[in-house]
Amino acid sequence: MFGAHPDDCDMGSGGTAILYARMGYAVKFVSLTNGDAGHQTMKGAALAKRRFAEAQEAGRRFGVTYDVLNNHDGALLPTLAVRLQVIKKIRQWDADIVIAPRPNDYHPDHRYTGVLVQDAAYLVAVPNVAPETPAIKKNPVFLYFRDRFERPNPFRPDIAIDISDVYGQKIHAMDAHESQMYEWLPWIGHYLDQVPVSKTDREKWLTKTREVKITPVIRMSLEKWYGKEKAAAVQYAEAFEICEYGGQPDETEVRRLFPMLGK
Ligand SMILES: [Zn+2]
Repeated sequence: MFGAHPDDCDMGSGGTAILYARMGYAVKFVSLTNGDAGHQTMKGAALAKRRFAEAQEAGRRFGVTYDVLNNHDGALLPTLAVRLQVIKKIRQWDADIVIAPRPNDYHPDHRYTGVLVQDAAYLVAVPNVAPETPAIKKNPVFLYFRDRFERPNPFRPDIAIDISDVYGQKIHAMDAHESQMYEWLPWIGHYLDQVPVSKTDREKWLTKTREVKITPVIRMSLEKWYGKEKAAAVQYAEAFEICEYGGQPDETEVRRLFPMLGK
């Protein structure tokens, strides 16, 4: 899973990552920037160091490995150099599934992360590109994280995963990003005065503030994958859209790639 910042993958698909990890599958989060702009008082190398440590702790709580690339936050561009970094990461991991943001987003770093991963979606299989890292044999399935953007087209939840059982663990893992959850995001969002002081109150508060509602289209997708009865009981879900580039899975293949869906 690729995010622009150390905490993006966590929010987008942390629950699904936990489910994979519990089933014994290897999951990697990659942040394309080091997050060195995301704070109101800290910056530069000191901030990057703090965010790297937070990402490692979050990774431990999710049960995933967490890579942070040393590109500057707020300055990511879809250059050939970063594209090659993405291609190498996907090849070295021998990924079956790659998840990234859609290239429509309020934050340019998110947008370009989407573009960079799309640009890699075909080239990971081309041996003459970055020949020092052997090309992948089977083109992975590329997916997009859920987002709320409507233009030029709204997110389409092709796959929806019930994360109700692991939602508490997802929040606990996100709580590791202290500089973001309790400092930067509340500051830029003008709700810093609402952040509780005690550790236990903070996690409870995070559970409420980070809740992403299940929309009617996501409920319909849950019904497709889990059946009407099970879908109605789902409290928390994550959803993904299948990218048109890369492997195109049919329903059987989606169930093979997402064994938590059941048969
Ligand atoms: Zn971000």
